[in-house]
Amino acid sequence: MNVLVINCGSSSLKYQLINSDSEEVLAKGLCERIGIDGSRITHTPAGGDKDITEVPMPDHTKAVQLVIEKLTDPKVGVIKSLSEVDAVGHRIVHGGEKFASSVVINDEVMKAIEECNDLAPLHNPANLIGINACTSIMPGVPQVAVFDTAFHQTMPPKAYLYGIPYEYYEKFKVRRYGFHGTSHDFVSNEAAKFLGKDRKDLKIIVCHLGNGASISAVMNGKSIDTSMGLTPLEGLFMGTRSGDLDPAIVTFLSNKLKISAEDVLSILNKKSGVLGLSGVSSDFRDLEKAYDEGNEHAKVTLEAYSYRVAKYIGAYAAAMNGVDVIAYTAGVGENTSLIRGMVGEYLTFLGTRIDPEKNKLRGETVVISTPDSKVVTMIVPTNEELAICRETVRLVK
Ligand code: AMP
Repeated sequence: MNVLVINCGSSSLKYQLINSDSEEVLAKGLCERIGIDGSRITHTPAGGDKDITEVPMPDHTKAVQLVIEKLTDPKVGVIKSLSEVDAVGHRIVHGGEKFASSVVINDEVMKAIEECNDLAPLHNPANLIGINACTSIMPGVPQVAVFDTAFHQTMPPKAYLYGIPYEYYEKFKVRRYGFHGTSHDFVSNEAAKFLGKDRKDLKIIVCHLGNGASISAVMNGKSIDTSMGLTPLEGLFMGTRSGDLDPAIVTFLSNKLKISAEDVLSILNKKSGVLGLSGVSSDFRDLEKAYDEGNEHAKVTLEAYSYRVAKYIGAYAAAMNGVDVIAYTAGVGENTSLIRGMVGEYLTFLGTRIDPEKNKLRGETVVISTPDSKVVTMIVPTNEELAICRETVRLVK
């Protein structure tokens, strides 16, 4: 069957049409600047060139309409008609405590997703708009919600509770949720499969290092801890997000800069992380180049980044009382040998040994540790769209 995978942002919509039998991506694309002047759709059929069309997109319904037009276009399309879309899988950012797994979307599910809006005010409303747009254009086509938070719902209270008055958890559900769950689930599964083992028998640490970054401890197939929290701001340094810091910094900076706490949070989300610290870029390609050229800010930034990744790996090895596999994934994890090497240097106490030659590899599932390493260290490319497609098929077939 053909599954349309949709990832809606507040002003964007990413899509892939995947044949679930061959798991081949038939076409993919991106609608940008929805509801803003200068909107455009970039559509790429498999094996074909990018087709970019500047076209007004006042809302997500129009964007979905354009996606269908492109998919069925005689020149750049890959299917003859809308009837060849058998199901739609949506990436939904926050499922709160309501969703521990993917679900077929109905009115009740819509209401429950809406109830999670205040936990992800920028993302969940956009996800709902995307679902409504698909419902109006493809009535009757089954739709599935796949949550970024669901995989981490197995965390025990000792991992998800913050050290704040319990009533805030009871009243407002303030707790760790974690994100990138689809990726942590997919990558830990793929790692186990690649090693010919059952995930249920392994202690795996997944390092999802992309523009957003998070680490998880996956023990016997279940997430038992992860670095992102109530929101995706907690944890590692990221492209532009600060990750962990002393919460008092928020009011301290608010007073010093004479700006609101909201504005400080915006700085922590958009101007911090490796961008803020290095002053170079949020992109690790630029950072590596600056590092090679001897830029001191890039050097200390990459050192601080690797140090924090290593500290989390140490923490999660303790949380699981051991670790069998460390898997690197996402843009930075799959490509940046410098980071994997720097992190590896901290972990020799665990008995990990990275093979420097293998560590030069990128973008493929491969073991980069030496045969005598006590912990298997791997690169495992993530594929969240394929994971969403598989979940969708599982639920609608
Ligand atoms: P993601 O969020 O997984 O798409 O990751 C995006 C980030 O991965 C980019 O901002 C870069 O920092 C990093 N990245 C992507 N490709 C490379 C590469 N070839 N070398 C180093 N870093 C890369």
